[in-house]
Amino acid sequence: MKLTKTLFLSEPYRKELDVTIIDIKEHKKHKALILDSTIFYPEGGGPEGDRGFIDETYIVNTIHGDEGEILHVVDPSCSLEIGTTHHLRLDWAHRYHYMVQHTAQHLISGILFTSFGIDTLSVHLSDTYIAIETGEPVIDQETLYHIEDEVNRAIITGGATHTKIVSQEDVPILNLRRSVKVETDVRIVSIEGYDEIACGGVHVDNISELNRVMYLMSESIRGHVRLFFLVSDIAKEEMRGYKEVVDEMKNTLSVPRERIIERVKENQLEIVSLRREVHLYQQSIIEQTLSSYMKGKETPIVMMDVSEYSFDALKVLSHILLDVPKIVLCAIKERDKENMNYLICIKGIEHEQELYGEIKLKVLQSIKAKGGGKAPLWQGIAHNNKEILREVEKVCNRVIYG
Ligand SMILES: [Zn+2]
Repeated sequence: MKLTKTLFLSEPYRKELDVTIIDIKEHKKHKALILDSTIFYPEGGGPEGDRGFIDETYIVNTIHGDEGEILHVVDPSCSLEIGTTHHLRLDWAHRYHYMVQHTAQHLISGILFTSFGIDTLSVHLSDTYIAIETGEPVIDQETLYHIEDEVNRAIITGGATHTKIVSQEDVPILNLRRSVKVETDVRIVSIEGYDEIACGGVHVDNISELNRVMYLMSESIRGHVRLFFLVSDIAKEEMRGYKEVVDEMKNTLSVPRERIIERVKENQLEIVSLRREVHLYQQSIIEQTLSSYMKGKETPIVMMDVSEYSFDALKVLSHILLDVPKIVLCAIKERDKENMNYLICIKGIEHEQELYGEIKLKVLQSIKAKGGGKAPLWQGIAHNNKEILREVEKVCNRVIYG
């Protein structure tokens, strides 16, 4: 195996380096360059692998190969050759994001353990958040705020991160919060006063670089509480986003921040009550309209467009129809430009199934009607076409009166 001299641990802030290609391998339809030395951190332990450029060629990821070698993954069309020397440039924004996230996770897990006796079982770092699966089944809200406060106090105070190599025999003395997974000498990373753990990752020099940590939310996973945190500018943006929402709500509702929730609840109750009122009002109008259509007719044939009524007009109508002994009715309600709802009621006349069959064949099919039902009510959705009322009326007159 070709060995690469790694500089990302000893010089985590180094962004550029001249390197020589010592081997080239195939990697899942890509090429992978092995270099004599590198500042690119290979994926593992939470952070993503580094990306960046070797001269003008983009390195999409850095990973460990099957034999532990460090692979700089590039496009298969890459024409760089073994033995040639090039300039390596890190995508610093990407790397620094993960250095910050990863160090923040050390700090949070350290404080969870030392101040609150809470274990970290697993960790996930993303483009935006840190997720920490704790060993606890429940953590109350007050404790969560205490955790957030203590992490931020630590960041304000600041604390250097240190690394040292210790032998296996010395590990038990350190009393680490997590057992050591390697069998060789161990790299111990500590944040002064807050955390000490075995880690092979890259970290920022001082936790003051984290700027701030925001507790975002928690969820339950495998019977444990998983906590989500945002760090630095991502936390700042999230907080500003909240502020914008609150300001907008304050203006829209004309209340101070403390009264927003109360006002929203009041408004919801008002909406429920208004809806009920509208419903009753609508019901009485529809009843009156219907009875005026039916007046003096032995078998009323009623065509109604209830588009101007509220959303549940057809439902109201179908309830009213329950008490009507004899009627042939077709009602429509526009949903939008393309679609409308329809309701057909055939009650108290002979051959009602036959009449519905005729309406379906002659009219409903032409407007691609979907839906169904059974006597005396059929309903569904169709292409918006108000002309069908006249067509349905013709069919009804023909079937009933011949
Ligand atoms: Zn680490």
